[in-house]
Amino acid sequence: LTPKDSYLEKTRQLPYSIQQQANQQSSFASKLIGDALANHIAEIDHDQCDAGDEDSFFVCDLGEVLQSFRIWKEKLPQVHPHYAVKCNTNLEVIKLLAKLGVSFDCASKTEIDTIINLGIDSDRIVYANPCKTNSFIRHAKQTNVNLTTVDNVQELYKLQKHHPECGILIRIVTDDETAQCRLSTKFGCSLEVAITELLPLAKELGLNVKGVAFHVGSGAKDFDSIYKAIRDARALFDAAAEFGYSLDVLDIGGGFERETFDQSSKMVTLSLDKFFPEAFVKQHQVKFIAEPGRFMVANAFTLATHVIARRDIKDAEIRAMVYINDGVYGNMNCILFDHQHPQAHVLTHNNKFYYDSVQSCPYRFSIWGPTCDGLDCVSNQAKLSHDVQVGDWLYFPNLGAYTSAATTSFNGFKGNAHVIYVASEELP
Ligand code: PLP
Repeated sequence: LTPKDSYLEKTRQLPYSIQQQANQQSSFASKLIGDALANHIAEIDHDQCDAGDEDSFFVCDLGEVLQSFRIWKEKLPQVHPHYAVKCNTNLEVIKLLAKLGVSFDCASKTEIDTIINLGIDSDRIVYANPCKTNSFIRHAKQTNVNLTTVDNVQELYKLQKHHPECGILIRIVTDDETAQCRLSTKFGCSLEVAITELLPLAKELGLNVKGVAFHVGSGAKDFDSIYKAIRDARALFDAAAEFGYSLDVLDIGGGFERETFDQSSKMVTLSLDKFFPEAFVKQHQVKFIAEPGRFMVANAFTLATHVIARRDIKDAEIRAMVYINDGVYGNMNCILFDHQHPQAHVLTHNNKFYYDSVQSCPYRFSIWGPTCDGLDCVSNQAKLSHDVQVGDWLYFPNLGAYTSAATTSFNGFKGNAHVIYVASEELP
């Protein structure tokens, strides 16, 4: 049976106690997610359950991850993706990507160990953190991780001492002012520093410079920055040749999103064609790699949260303040760290199920997380389809990127939410 057949087989008799308002128009994927949400909630006895049984939870559609991978392969077949593990460390996602042949961008010892402990070869890892702890560099050497990024001279001295054979990608700065999360404020050297300081020192220390890396910022909005970075990378390839280096890796980093991938991938292709033409690529055997995080997982995770409290507000634009059991110290830390605006929707109201049903949204609320901190605000003004009450559930789609990876246990709330897996596509 294909996933679709077996789904239809199973759902001939829906076992849910919550009545599902089936939306005939909704896609197979959203039906799968809706059923997973409904099933889990139906299993909770809200009046008797143990503490925490009604915690927030995710539904992950691994079919969406597969879909992202396919789109990448279709639009950027010449660029080999290294999934940025920091974005979402979910092991099922990593295992699926590994099966698909994707490689990995690790930022730390723990991320390296996560990949290696899954039996994935260390030559599929780029240690893409330009500022590393000495002991982590030694760990990279011990585990045979032989490619890393560097943007300052101290890092070259550290590598010479602790991992002298390691392949080096010089990370250059980019123009990422309009990105959702800027990275070039912290990382990347100018072309001038790369040419006048890093290359000569690397040569003097006998280090193995292999290529150039950049990142145009996470959630990049200005794709001209891709063009400029690839142009600068080519200038550095040429400068390195004068030091006797024949560079053969260009790492175009992350910053990609599914919603804008048509434009960003076109810009990558156009820029590579211009600055890394076929003859040059052949002559130097150049490999193009990337470090996509958000692109692979953002759309694959839906978060369900329980309304635990409500405070009515008189004479205000909002009807009430509603309090849910996840927030900015939990899986919605992306509000603070990643400048995301998670969109709340009604999942259940008075035991009726409203997942993915298109409704008008006349009710305004502010939504708050469960901790005692006033900063823990999920939305100042969310428009919802129903007058939600204590005991209802809300859901937030597209919460796969930079969410579960950075939760805290502040105020004693458990950070790592339960994940239910579905697959809207047949998985390998
Ligand atoms: N590579 C590096 C070095 C990063 O710092 C990040 C994100 O911070 C990524 C890749 C992933 O970026 P994105 O999720 O925007 O694709």
